[in-house]
Parts: sequence; C-alpha cells; structure tokens
Amino acid sequence: MSASSRKGSGRTPGPRTRAVHGGGSSSRGPVSTPIVHSVTFSFPDLDALMVAQNAGPEGAFYQRYGHPTLAAAEARLAELEDAEAGLLFSSGMAAISAVFLALLKSGDHVVALHQSYGGTHALLQWGAERFGWSFDLVDARDPAAWERAFKPSTRIFHVESPTNPTLTIVDLERAARLAHARDAALTCDSTFASPVGQHPLALGADVVMHSATKSIGGHGDLLAGAVLGPRARIGAVWKVRKVFGAVPDPALAWQIERSLKTLPLRVAATNATALELATRLTAHPGVAQVFYPGLASHPGHDVARRQMSLGFGPVLAFDVRGGTEAATRVIEGLELIAHAPSLGSVDSLASLPAYTSHLQLGEEGRRRAGIPDGLIRLSVGLEEADDLWADLAEALARVPAHATPQR
Ligand SMILES: *Cc1c(COP(=O)(O)O)cnc(C)c1O
Repeated sequence: MSASSRKGSGRTPGPRTRAVHGGGSSSRGPVSTPIVHSVTFSFPDLDALMVAQNAGPEGAFYQRYGHPTLAAAEARLAELEDAEAGLLFSSGMAAISAVFLALLKSGDHVVALHQSYGGTHALLQWGAERFGWSFDLVDARDPAAWERAFKPSTRIFHVESPTNPTLTIVDLERAARLAHARDAALTCDSTFASPVGQHPLALGADVVMHSATKSIGGHGDLLAGAVLGPRARIGAVWKVRKVFGAVPDPALAWQIERSLKTLPLRVAATNATALELATRLTAHPGVAQVFYPGLASHPGHDVARRQMSLGFGPVLAFDVRGGTEAATRVIEGLELIAHAPSLGSVDSLASLPAYTSHLQLGEEGRRRAGIPDGLIRLSVGLEEADDLWADLAEALARVPAHATPQR
C-alpha cells in the first residue's frame, strides 16, 4: 500500500476506507475524480517533456500511454489489491494478452490449467500457432501432476482460483513455490475472487489479472481488464499496452474508479448470499451436487478459507438431477435471475456451461473436466437471498419428480 494511506494515526485503513478514499490525499478538491478528456498534454519546455517521456507509465503525456483519470483509477485499484502498481485495459482479455506478450518470447513454454477461461485457451492456441510459444494444460484438481508439465523453457505458470464453472480452488502458495523453483512466473487470473476477496501477490504470485468487466465494474455495464503487480513487471506490461493500444478512455476509467468505491461492500454482500444459497441448494432433493468453496464439503474449502477473504466469491454451480433437459427447464423457469453469461454483477445471472462457456469441449471433454451436463452456474447479485431462493425453488419445482415444498 502506498505511504499516503498510512498517514495520520499510522493505522492501515480497512478495505472499505481504501475503496472510498483511494490512494490520494484527502486535501481540498473535487471528491469525485474529474474526467480529463484530453488526448495530449502540454509542457513548459522540452526538458519537462523528456522527463515525462522517460518516466514510463507515470509520465504519460499522450492518452494511449496513460492519462490522469486512468491513473486515479489504477492507483485506487492497486490500493485494494495491495499491489505496488496496476494497469487498466479495455477488456479482461486485453489484460491477460498483455501479460503473456510481456513475459513470453518465441520458443517459451506456458503451463496453464485445463479449467482456464475459454478466452485464455484461445489466446494460448493463437500464440502457439502465430507467435511461436507452446503450452501444456494441467488439471487444477491434481496438483501432484503439475510439475510434470514443466520444461526448461517454461516461463509462465498461469492459474485461476476459483475456476470456472466448478469453482476448483488452486493453492496459490503451492503454485508459486513450484513456478519459482522452475524459474517461471506465477500469473493468476483472480477474477472470480475479485481484488478484495483474494490477494495472490501476498501468496507469491508475480502478476495478478482481472476481468474488470466482472466484480470490479460490477454493474454489467462495462468491459475492462486489469493487471497488478510489482512496479518493474508492470512497466514491462505497460510497454505492451502502449504498443497494442488497448487503453480505457477517460469516461470508462472514471466509471471503473467509481465502481471501486463500492467494491468491498458489493463483494461481501454477494458472497454472503452465495453461501446462503449454496447451503440451501445442498438440501434440495432436485439437486445432485453443489459446487461452492464456502461449503465444508468442497475439496478446496480449507485452502479457500486460508487464501480468500470476504467470503468465497459470488459464483456457485449446481448439478440438477435429470441432466441437460432438467437443467434447461430450471433455467428457463427463472424469473428474477436472468438467463445470461457473465458474473460479478449487481444482477443475479444463471447460465448452462455445457451450452455456453464449455460447449466446445463436447460431452467427453466436459466429463473429463468434471462438468456435469445438468450444471447451472449462478452468479449471485445484490438481491435479497430470500427472493433469489424463492425464484430458484419455483424453477426447480418445474422438474416434476423433484417438486418439493419450499422451506
Ligand atoms: C470474463 C473473464 C475473462 C475475460 O474478460 P473480458 O473482460 O470478457 O475480456 C477472463 N478471465 C475470467 C476468469 C473471466 O471470467
């Protein structure tokens, strides 16, 4: 955390305070960051311009390099993630791509999870075909097997935790030890946990990425991404952003910064409701299995308790008895909960991974990945738990054999 937020009594302010006050001082001025709609910035003399030009991300004097509204949002985000520095991008995939392009060159090797986000699979494949890197996938559920995938040329071990859609938990300290023993960087897509729900850098990760489209934006109305880490690494990623140009504009940067102010509150609320619903679903006769790291029965529960804070994330998944047909009836019976992909929004959203994010795996691939065909993924929003439960119970009652009185 920056020195600014420790001033005064010397206490480290809590996440809510840091979310509201950011990394800036509380001296006089607008309480909301001004949106600076300027593409370029002028200097009194050539020396001043040269200083800015040589200062990397901090010296930005042209909007693609960085700009004041963006810098404010990045500083606030870095405070929340407890990172030295952060960069925002115009999508989560732009952020992840920038990290891979910054850390890899032709001939390098990546170890990633079978359970990685679909777009990350596409990025790894694209780079293997067009850029000259190679990759191997390991099962997040089988850490004993990870090391076998490493090669002398492995530069990145890329993980997610929790993973999509079955919420597998990766022990990040263990992953970092392995990566570092093999001279690779641990990169962690922490989207499902959010910047306030998990701090992978403190557990040994070298770089953290987020799809800011999810919990950071949090209202289902913006597309963005983030990369956080030590200043030196962020400098290398900044060069990629400058070259490829996936920079949020001032209006988007402001929207992201505004959303950050309520992030800890939103995450605490959605996570509490997700645990409540996951617990109720385990007792429902129409549900074969519930996947949620907050449940003591989840194989990653102990690790999740150690490495997650403010609960266990907004996403849970449950396997409806009766397979695809039953799950389709249930999802089509939801009224309050929207049938849509994505997660981390104020709105609760449900989707069928077998038909959306994991369609391309095929039936056999899904079985190997441990994704039942009757799986419904639920991203819990800010609605009342009782209202969401009533919606779920009514939809589950549409599968006649399992119709049961509501609790
Ligand atoms: C959504 C998502 C992404 C991609 O983010 P975009 O903002 O859609 O580009 C990457 N990783 C995870 C885990 C995601 O959920």
